[in-house]
Amino acid sequence: MSEKGLVIVYTGNGKGKTTAALGMALRAIGYDHKVCMLQFIKGSWHYGEMDSSKKLEPNFELIAVGKGFVGILDDNSPREEHEKYAAEAVRICREKIFSEKYDVIILDEVNYAITLGLIDVQEIIKIIKEKPSDLDLVLTGRDVKEEIVELADLVTEMKEIKHPFKSGIKAKKGIDF
Ligand code: ATP
Ligand code: MG
Repeated sequence: MSEKGLVIVYTGNGKGKTTAALGMALRAIGYDHKVCMLQFIKGSWHYGEMDSSKKLEPNFELIAVGKGFVGILDDNSPREEHEKYAAEAVRICREKIFSEKYDVIILDEVNYAITLGLIDVQEIIKIIKEKPSDLDLVLTGRDVKEEIVELADLVTEMKEIKHPFKSGIKAKKGIDF
């Protein structure tokens, strides 16, 4: 019998949420587990993991489901435009989760997408409740909703004690992106 999959949340205002999820992915891939990371919010930046994932194929798949949100976050696009992209992101998310092809699925920055009102928390709650029982599901992003915390098995809050940004040090390649 397969083990129960966990619902894992990395939240809080300190750095390390996406990094923690990537670290777990690296660990799981060591056992030849299949990992899929869905990025809900990604701007025009290039992140190292976009290339690391290719080096870890076919065990690691990285998909920018929130690509369509880029460019519409800071403008006044019609509401339907936002809803269209959100619906598409949720559709891809469901497709991956219910494909039963993966051992670990990471919904990176999904909490942020919820806070921005791009995705309805109820859609994510439904996915958490219906997911394959042995799938480990990881959700990252600040300001996790209480309803998600209630359903989770593991919740870690990253707390900022110090961040180089505060002393004027810019984001660093390989550390921040
Ligand atoms: P990382 O991707 O480095 O693990 P994160 O997922 O915890 O960070 P996000 O809220 O996704 O943090 O923010 C992404 C970007 O903002 C990263 O470049 C990260 O270094 C930076 N960042 C995270 N926390 C802070 C902070 N407290 N102050 C300033 N910048 C931050
Ligand atoms: Mg992050």
